[in-house]
Amino acid sequence: MKLSELSRRDWFKNVGLGLGAAAVGASVSQDANADFVTKKAAQPGTEYTGKDAVPCTLSDGKVSRPASVIPTISETDVLVVGGGPAGCCAAIAAARAGVKVTLVERYNHFGGLATGGLVLIILGHWTTNKAGEKVQVVQGIGEEMMKRLEGLPNGICNRNFGRNPTIDAEVYKYLLVEMLMESNIELFLHSWAIDAIVDDSPDAKTGNPVVKGAVIQTKLGPQAILAKQVIDTTGDGDVFAYAGCAYTRRLYHIGLPCRLGNTDKIHVEPGTKVPYIGDITPIKGVRWLNMQGPDADGLDVRELTKLELNSRRQIWKNYINLKNTPGCEDVFLMETAPQLGVRITRVLEGTEEMTLEGAKAGQTFDSCVGYGGAWQGDHIGWQIPYGALISKNVENILTGGRSICGAPSMSELLRVIPNCWSSGHSAGVAAACAVKQNCTARDVNLNEVRRVLKEQGAYLG
Ligand SMILES: Cc1cc2nc3c(=O)[nH]c(=O)nc-3n(C[C@H](O)[C@H](O)[C@H](O)COP(=O)(O)OP(=O)(O)OC[C@H]3O[C@@H](n4cnc5c(N)ncnc54)[C@H](O)[C@@H]3O)c2cc1C
Repeated sequence: MKLSELSRRDWFKNVGLGLGAAAVGASVSQDANADFVTKKAAQPGTEYTGKDAVPCTLSDGKVSRPASVIPTISETDVLVVGGGPAGCCAAIAAARAGVKVTLVERYNHFGGLATGGLVLIILGHWTTNKAGEKVQVVQGIGEEMMKRLEGLPNGICNRNFGRNPTIDAEVYKYLLVEMLMESNIELFLHSWAIDAIVDDSPDAKTGNPVVKGAVIQTKLGPQAILAKQVIDTTGDGDVFAYAGCAYTRRLYHIGLPCRLGNTDKIHVEPGTKVPYIGDITPIKGVRWLNMQGPDADGLDVRELTKLELNSRRQIWKNYINLKNTPGCEDVFLMETAPQLGVRITRVLEGTEEMTLEGAKAGQTFDSCVGYGGAWQGDHIGWQIPYGALISKNVENILTGGRSICGAPSMSELLRVIPNCWSSGHSAGVAAACAVKQNCTARDVNLNEVRRVLKEQGAYLG
């Protein structure tokens, strides 16, 4: 029988999906569904039922949360919270170093601002050394990701010596699923970290609180994940803030990138002034537009809402202006970023701080565990000290990505995607080594961390 002759019910029966799968459509193969593991409705002890619910109370105009026992959903060696560029590298690195890893992400995909934020150009993995030669300093897992994107349709363009390539958000989302699953990482999407778990006894040596995991908010209420080491790669330092780590709070530009389609169909008369159409992407006719936006507080929900609304109005206005330009009628607004572009919010107070002056002068650190590059590859690279990844006053919590310890002057450099890959990679290896050495993250043997990083292809200068 031809496919066209099958009834809808017969078709689903034939491919083994059943009618329940109708919503996902005919393009989902049986194989893709083979991984579904949830066969029972609820796992005992992991779910709030009506009788266990402990709602907040309102008393004298103040809302309070009564004490309640939170079910533990998982126990792991290294818990990584936040699945952006830094978190994915951290999780993969730790898993490759041989420990059990759990990665938590609030949204439905991995990649953070590089996917959900539609930040598509990869700036900062090149440098110019003192001899005037171009050197690619971000290697390791970040470089592996770019290589693998090259092998996927429309994955990456402009990947030439000394240039800054541009990636496709959907291809990168897919690649991350593959790389995280290959590494046997326990993954939780749709899970928003809402608290840190701290041991009731302080560390015997330093007297500091010791982090033991995080609480995530799920549809079944809060659930606990216990861990020997926690890496906060939320970009905003949510978990290290909940754990009581010292940090500084910064305001920075917040904008909303978008993508336009059919830009290859623009045919204007000579002399026509065409509004800005953004930069090329790996997809023919699709361009992405970055947005700088105002300096604002990326932690304030009223401010975030206002920025989101204003940015959408601005994008629409610009789009209509473009579409009304003779010769640009076929252009369409393909997508606004599902996630607002928050650049910097909380920055950890570590035990060592990087500065732009030091980075450009070639400052060295005995604790070097990573290397970062220049925005446009136009100056020398800089060392990432281990002290930029660990808290000065709390044990067993590390950070990677845009929240690592750096002076305000350093923010521009340490937040670009390859440098987040690099610091995330270092945090992942360090956390895994601490688990294996059965010590705190502060006391980890850095020679061993560097050995494993090099084994994993990282560049350390
Ligand atoms: C508008 C804009 C333009 C930029 N332009 C460029 C550019 O051209 N080139 C470049 O290289 N870089 C650019 N950047 C910088 C770069 O995109 C980011 O700094 C980089 O993605 C940061 O990586 P990260 O992993 O540290 O954090 P993020 O990418 O922010 O990832 C953090 C992840 O954690 C998740 N998360 C957050 N809070 C929680 C929570 N409580 N619980 C669970 N999950 C959580 C988020 O959903 C996200 O997936 C730009 C940034 C912006 C905003």
